[in-house]
Amino acid sequence: MHVAYIAFGTNMGDKRRYIREALKKIKDKGINIIKVSSIYETEPYGVLEQDNFLNGVVQVETDLSPEMLLESLMSIEKELDRVRIKKWGPRTIDLDIIFYEDFIINKENLVVPHKDMENRDFVLKPLCELDENFIHPTLKKSVKKLYEDLQNKKL
Ligand code: ATP
Ligand code: CA
Ligand code: CA
Repeated sequence: MHVAYIAFGTNMGDKRRYIREALKKIKDKGINIIKVSSIYETEPYGVLEQDNFLNGVVQVETDLSPEMLLESLMSIEKELDRVRIKKWGPRTIDLDIIFYEDFIINKENLVVPHKDMENRDFVLKPLCELDENFIHPTLKKSVKKLYEDLQNKKL
């Protein structure tokens, strides 16, 4: 079994329902949910003129390889009517692999740890709730430290 962290985000329609449905579908695919963070309301990132997001992170345990996990998550997005119109645009549900154990993956369709997570409050804050001592395998810092560094950067 492998421990992974998956970030979720939604900013369309009945957002809480999309989160509930996504978590249910994750379970249905044989991915064990260990812990779910609080859900945070956050301002849009990148493309600003769109509805606020609800974001959070789940800690899971799975036998799936990173590639198979990504495939499962993308099929869940599809089942929940996600349509890719523009980068960082509105979406019913977005599921990103943040960490997969301490694996470092740099493939065209899969980069782990997620390539921009250290710049995102809405990923780091819920992650801190789940395991603030988890060490980022390339940045070599705990998620707690990454979160603190990001707050200091903004001062
Ligand atoms: P961002 O990745 O910056 O949060 P996004 O989530 O809006 O942006 P998407 O359109 O959902 O981007 O995904 C684009 C592609 O990113 C996917 O097709 C997937 O192959 C790829 N990808 C690379 N690394 C990951 C990862 N760690 N988790 C999920 N998708 C990833
Ligand atoms: Ca994303
Ligand atoms: Ca995504």
